[in-house]
Amino acid sequence: MTTSIRKARRAWAAEVRKVIRQGKVFIQEIQHDDWCGIYTHERTCNCSPDRVLKDDKGHVLARVRGAGFYDPMEHLEVLK
Ligand SMILES: [Zn+2]
Repeated sequence: MTTSIRKARRAWAAEVRKVIRQGKVFIQEIQHDDWCGIYTHERTCNCSPDRVLKDDKGHVLARVRGAGFYDPMEHLEVLK
């Protein structure tokens, strides 16, 4: 994993923690590329999706690009 991916992932985790701390209702939108493996039967992400945090009214709170492929399990880390 490159430094920039790690940096982007840390930035994303920090944004998620921030809205959790504020007790806001939020939506995580993971915007995969059309060709991403998430849409195949394997359901494994191999693109580098934009990650967007939105509030319950759909306003964008944060957007992180270049964080590498998306693993749903990484949220267990964020919530620690
Ligand atoms: Zn993907």
